[in-house]
Amino acid sequence: MRKLLISKLFVVLIITTGTYSFSQSFDSPHFTLERIGDGIYAAIHRSGGQAICNAGFVDLGEEVLVFDSFLSTAAARDLKQAIIELTGKPVRWLVNSHSHNDHIRGNQVFAPGASIISSSEIRDYLLKRGKEEAEEEQSYAAGRLVFYQLELQESKTEEEKQLARMWLGYFEAMVETYPDLVITPPDVVFKDTITFYGSKRSATLIEFQHGHMESDIVLYLPFEQILFSGDLVFIGMHPYLADGDPSGLKQTLEALLEWPIKTIVPGHGDVGDKEDIQAMIQYIDMAESMAGELKLQGKTPDDLDVAEIPEPYRDWKFLMFYKANLQFLNDLIKD
Ligand SMILES: [Zn+2]
Repeated sequence: MRKLLISKLFVVLIITTGTYSFSQSFDSPHFTLERIGDGIYAAIHRSGGQAICNAGFVDLGEEVLVFDSFLSTAAARDLKQAIIELTGKPVRWLVNSHSHNDHIRGNQVFAPGASIISSSEIRDYLLKRGKEEAEEEQSYAAGRLVFYQLELQESKTEEEKQLARMWLGYFEAMVETYPDLVITPPDVVFKDTITFYGSKRSATLIEFQHGHMESDIVLYLPFEQILFSGDLVFIGMHPYLADGDPSGLKQTLEALLEWPIKTIVPGHGDVGDKEDIQAMIQYIDMAESMAGELKLQGKTPDDLDVAEIPEPYRDWKFLMFYKANLQFLNDLIKD
């Protein structure tokens, strides 16, 4: 009897363990899922995949809120499937953090069914420029895909290979997604802030202006002190400053430093914490002073050697953004 009981317990344990591991993970070639709280997941772009940006989702209790929809419908479909498998609940809301292509191209996977929520600036941008921008991208995507296939073959260092894989995923996403792309703008807009009160938790969206772009939305979970920052924060890689207002972005980041935040899911890079906000502020300070020095010396960012890039930024990913940022800041300085 005792033996039987033990073997029964053993069977139950195996089944329970099996079920537990199934419901806690989801495998996608496009992103890795990181559980950062009960019912709170960060979806982090996987090298070579078609997500390109990070996203995430939050179980509000009866329904799920998703933050950003990736560059491809393939990655967005995986995210939707992950939500079904991990929560068993419907997606009610999809947030668009800003209007860069890698955060919005998977919108059509969630709507209809979910409402897409963002600021009126982001909705207007997609209505005015969305189709035209996608058509432009489609016109060169196939050519660039071939270019990066060759680039990957010829890459010598692991760093070069990583970069070629990133661009391969980027252009593959466009080539595969765009033939069936439907520009799907937000159908709900808010100004300043909006809070969702779910049975499990509340979640707040806050709009900041003149930062990474004209309008950026963050998702804040006050009880868990988790911030989904969109592209206001990049971690371990050069941010892209050239579509926004670097001094406005710095002010926003300084304001965020005052918030109770334990965990940050950045727009790009690994999950981090408040120190990464500080690192972004220091980066902008560094880039502004470098641009000023170049201007004084009558040089352009193209005159810079990699060795002149200060540590630790030399080792950050997306090095190509460094020169683009300096050029942008250089142009902002009045002669
Ligand atoms: Zn962006």
